[in-house]
Amino acid sequence: MNDMLGSSASPDQAAYPASVEYSALTRAEQEQILHLQQAVLESVAQGADHRAIIDRVCLLEEQLLPNSIGTVMLLDDIGGFLNVYAGPSLPAEGVERLNGMRPGPGSGSCGNVIFHSAPQFVSHTFTDARWQDLRQVAYDFNLCSCWSVPVYSADRKIVGTFALSSFEHRSPSPFHQKLLEIGASIIGIVLERHKVQASLRLFETAIAGSEEGFMILDTSQLILSVNPMFTRMYGYSAQEIIGQTPDKLRSDQHDDEFYLAMWQSVRHFGRWQGEVWRRRKNGEVFPEWLNISAVNDADGDTTHYIATFSDISQRKVAEAQIQYLSSHDALTGLPNRVLFQDRLESAIALAARDHHRVALLNLDLDNFKLLNDSLGHSAGDALLRSVATRLKQCISETDTVSRLGGDAFLIALTNVERVDDINTILMDILSQVAAPMNIVGRNLSLTCSIGVAVYPDDGDLFETLLKRSDMAMYHAKEAGRNTYRFFTEQINTDSLAHLRIAHSLRQAVKENQFTLHYQPQIDLRTGQLIGAEALIRWNHPTEGLVPPGDFIGIAEQTGLIVEIGDWVLHEACRQAVAWQKAGLPLVVAVNISAVQFRRGDFEQSILSALGQSGLAPQYLEIELTESVLLHDMDNMMSLINRLKDLGLKLAIDDFGTGYSSLSYLKKFKVDRLKIDQSFVRDIARDPEDRAIVSAIVQMARSLNLRSIAEGVETAAQLEFLSEQGCDEAQGYFYSRPIPPEAFEVFVRAMGTGAQLT
Ligand code: C2E
Ligand code: MG
Ligand code: MG
Repeated sequence: MNDMLGSSASPDQAAYPASVEYSALTRAEQEQILHLQQAVLESVAQGADHRAIIDRVCLLEEQLLPNSIGTVMLLDDIGGFLNVYAGPSLPAEGVERLNGMRPGPGSGSCGNVIFHSAPQFVSHTFTDARWQDLRQVAYDFNLCSCWSVPVYSADRKIVGTFALSSFEHRSPSPFHQKLLEIGASIIGIVLERHKVQASLRLFETAIAGSEEGFMILDTSQLILSVNPMFTRMYGYSAQEIIGQTPDKLRSDQHDDEFYLAMWQSVRHFGRWQGEVWRRRKNGEVFPEWLNISAVNDADGDTTHYIATFSDISQRKVAEAQIQYLSSHDALTGLPNRVLFQDRLESAIALAARDHHRVALLNLDLDNFKLLNDSLGHSAGDALLRSVATRLKQCISETDTVSRLGGDAFLIALTNVERVDDINTILMDILSQVAAPMNIVGRNLSLTCSIGVAVYPDDGDLFETLLKRSDMAMYHAKEAGRNTYRFFTEQINTDSLAHLRIAHSLRQAVKENQFTLHYQPQIDLRTGQLIGAEALIRWNHPTEGLVPPGDFIGIAEQTGLIVEIGDWVLHEACRQAVAWQKAGLPLVVAVNISAVQFRRGDFEQSILSALGQSGLAPQYLEIELTESVLLHDMDNMMSLINRLKDLGLKLAIDDFGTGYSSLSYLKKFKVDRLKIDQSFVRDIARDPEDRAIVSAIVQMARSLNLRSIAEGVETAAQLEFLSEQGCDEAQGYFYSRPIPPEAFEVFVRAMGTGAQLT
């Protein structure tokens, strides 16, 4: 055996040229190499699998180098070790022994190829130092020599080795080297092609299954290929569209200029993306998000265009819905405050230019809360929707109705020439709203109060106009509801006064500037004093005694009523006990504001007043108005039942004026009905008031309740009440509300009923 390296353990690679020239080969050898290449090509042409081709290379080379075996080992890119990839003649056990080989100076010919990045020709594996770690393998499989060369990837990285191992000691001739060189190069190409095909297949699968549409165009914009998503999106099959241009998908939403600009951008910047309206095969137009990129070859010349696109009609619908919801009221579908403000401000801008007016109408339904609470919320909702429809009918196309929330609506009248025009619309709105409506099978009627502020007269900012229309609306409410009021400077002054009162009321609570006056209540049958109603007064440092009508409303709005009411309860109970101690056992009636009553700690306030004073509960009567009971009935009922269980008395104040359903009288354990003074006032003259009063008295009797008439000023009134069988009375006829000391004097003077000791 020709041994060029002898038994030297140190490799002398310089002895072998990097690449062998064909001219160095004999003619016969050249032909053999040609045959080898043709045989491999044949396998490729037959569509053989990459593994089969590589095996074929090994076997063909074994034929050309008898008594040898060809093996391919590939580097593991993670661990950096070598595994046998092909070795059709290597026994399975040999494969197992070689697998996982770590390249190093003693790791055999293949390991050294990797270790030195150079071919290794080992003629004596039993003695060569390069086979030190594999010596046993060499013995066991009788591998006497082993020549190994690198296998390269397309980017000239060593990815593995191709080796011919012989069962005899031999050194390679130029022909053998050429065999190794050709084999390694074919194997490199086959491996590379396999890698590309695999990633192409992966790519194709991804595109075929993509949720995005995909299209390849040539440079003249002819469609070369589309994916299945395209067909699902557009309705055209691949056959129908291939060879056409995307013009077939155009909608008439864009002009030629749009497409020109789009393609210009693709040509200049290599890409374009944006929203395009397209047409499906069935004619339907839809928005898509389109992405076009140019594909360039190595010289930078564009060869293809790739378009990816997705149908964004769903997203558009959702966006529109969100846009709609954020600018509209969900219940009535009317514009909300944000959109309303927008429209009003545009209307003001136009009005400023054209010198006309804009009116802001602030509308609030009267007593809506009561209806809502007593009929249930779904009826309330139906009512609001019905009002919304009616309001829209009262205004023109260019005007806007908006729901602010609750039962509050805003209306913008955008093109007002004369203020008189507003009046006409206001009258129309009042009567439209007041017409009966059929809600859940019931005929209901409802009224509203409207405040009006006008641009430019009352302000030129939305916020100002809104505030002023609101003040005007409160004036409409105060004027008895079911009416409208324009904003005036007087209203402004009143509101400022309102603010001032709120401010000094806070001071009053801190400094306890309140006092209670008492008004006697008389039993009409016996003429005896049976009770006293406590009525609050504000002892104002500069303005003297302020009546409750001037501040209770503000105290309710500011929440101060809770503290004030708590003080009233404590003070009234303390007074009642003082009178009892003085031998005057009177029931003291205390007025309770709705705000105070609905607060969670009202019961606590009662218990504390009774506890601190030591008053027995049956000497305390609370006066509630009907509206308090009708709100949130279930909760009110349980609270009232608890209070009644304590022994407290309950009177319904101002009876007959509320939006009464009467049925609550069966539910609540009421003791007294206080007939409102508005009915009592005219009983001498007005037959209707007489009828109402006598009806209330009779109803009270049949329900086993006591009736007390408020505001009795004359003997004639008293006589009528007595005739009707009214149980008790209270009014200036007996006494005005008076301070407690004066009250004692009054009792003494009366000389009847309970006696002061
Ligand atoms: P109310 O409970 O209906 O009280 C009766 C009102 O009629 C009292 O007015 C009383 O002074 C007045 N009045 C009594 N007899 C006659 C009469 O013969 N003729 C006329 N014209 N009026 C008469 P006042 O004291 O101004 O109280 C007004 C309202 O303020 C009360 O109406 C009550 O709703 C409320 N109020 C009074 N004190 C309190 C209180 O401590 N807390 C709460 N929350 N409200 C109170
Ligand atoms: Mg009262
Ligand atoms: Mg009253």
